[in-house]
Amino acid sequence: MSKEVRVRFAPSPTGPLHIGGVRTALFNYLFAKHHNGKFILRIEDTDQTRFVEGAEDYIIESLKWLNLIPDEGVGFGGNYGSYKQSERKTIYQKHIEELVAKGKAYYAFDTAEELDDLRAKGEDAKEPFIYNWSTRNQLKNSLSLPENEVQSLIEKGTPYVIRFKIEKDRTILLDDLIRGKITIDTNTLDDKVLFKSDGMPTYHLANIVDDHLMEVTHVIRGEEWLPSMALHELLYEAFDWEAPRFAHLPLILKPEGKGKLSKRDGDKHGFPVFPLEWKTDEGLSKGYREEGYLPEAVLNMLALLGWNPGNDQEILTMDEMIAQFSLEKVSKSGARFSPEKSIWFNHQYIQQKRPNDLLPEFNTILQTFGLEANDELSLKVIELLKERANFVKDIAEQGKFFFEAPSTYDEKAVKKAWKDDSKEILEDFSALLQETDFTADALHQAMQTFVDTKEIGFGKIGMPLRLALVGALQGPDIPVIMELIGREETTKRIKSLINAQS
Ligand code: GLU
Repeated sequence: MSKEVRVRFAPSPTGPLHIGGVRTALFNYLFAKHHNGKFILRIEDTDQTRFVEGAEDYIIESLKWLNLIPDEGVGFGGNYGSYKQSERKTIYQKHIEELVAKGKAYYAFDTAEELDDLRAKGEDAKEPFIYNWSTRNQLKNSLSLPENEVQSLIEKGTPYVIRFKIEKDRTILLDDLIRGKITIDTNTLDDKVLFKSDGMPTYHLANIVDDHLMEVTHVIRGEEWLPSMALHELLYEAFDWEAPRFAHLPLILKPEGKGKLSKRDGDKHGFPVFPLEWKTDEGLSKGYREEGYLPEAVLNMLALLGWNPGNDQEILTMDEMIAQFSLEKVSKSGARFSPEKSIWFNHQYIQQKRPNDLLPEFNTILQTFGLEANDELSLKVIELLKERANFVKDIAEQGKFFFEAPSTYDEKAVKKAWKDDSKEILEDFSALLQETDFTADALHQAMQTFVDTKEIGFGKIGMPLRLALVGALQGPDIPVIMELIGREETTKRIKSLINAQS
């Protein structure tokens, strides 16, 4: 039997999760479920300078809202914990010592100022400074200094970092599941810092130690990590570990097509780029959840950013996505984000919902309008208006008048609808209503009979009546409105319009 597939989503809690990150989580989830494997959440919080309060909870809440529930991870249990890197310091310490003992890593005592100085000089000379085989012997490290000096520097508590010793003159062959084969010349790589004097590993060390210990089989992550792939392969080799397979996902591009989708694009055009709202002192960034998107719609939209099932099916259930997902069908080129398409997906998913599913959100929105919800009426209004809605809030906006009589009448509509004979027509019709069954069919019939007997055009009754019921010349079929609000309320609204116009 082949090894169980184990993948991880490994965000750093440096702020709210961007939808690019959510897409990474989703692709990991789909891949895991497709292979009956495990989806792990690991929090990569070793860089304390970038730590943001609340970000970890935000990540977990986002995954829960989207129903991308990890099989293991921070907040979800599992046998490979802790899944939070700041709680694994001793593990990294032990592993970095192993690399130093093997001669694969070395202590470096160069100060930040010294290195800045070298970088500045390199820039001036148009020969960028790089800490590697070509420079390391002239710098302050355990490869260039005598052993006793290194010992005494460490004993004195001189700050140091531990760097990876990248071999010279090697060509590394990489094989990415999405990008294919890539060759890298090790002479272009620098001796990356693996461990810092604050006792913390850098991302690179912690990431590969954890992927190994957590038995991760496939690393599926954003394209921005592709440049680290050679280093990671070399680290696995240095430890004598088998490396996982790598797959680097394409970027999510701005709606205009060029460049990576950013928070600023969302702010500029007013669409969310975060799953949940995120508040900071600088302001509030919109969230898909708070904007009224359904999690299923967000997932479906994201799934098709860079992947497609190989046909033109656009609406896929989670089960269908799982069944059809494969990394071979993930594209190499960036995927353009479309705010309009996101809305379209939400529209599609709203149509699939039964009124009952939308009821709680609908009632909550009504309450924010200061209106009293009424489940029976709410359900009918949802059923009636859903077809044209992109969001539940659209139904509430357009259906407000079902829950409260108009308090003002649209001026233009009054001009168009209110004529000298409107009062009399409405009064006569109102009298007829007292004897009509309050079903849409009977009401429709009554209106027809009314215009036939009076020998008037339909607009003569239709327009003022609609104005009375809605306050404007819009909304669904008049008989349907009357049926839903009932005889008493219909009569009342007709009276109010007559009063307002007299
Ligand atoms: N912590 C990295 C990030 O924030 C994870 C990259 C990876 O998946 O290896 O994106």
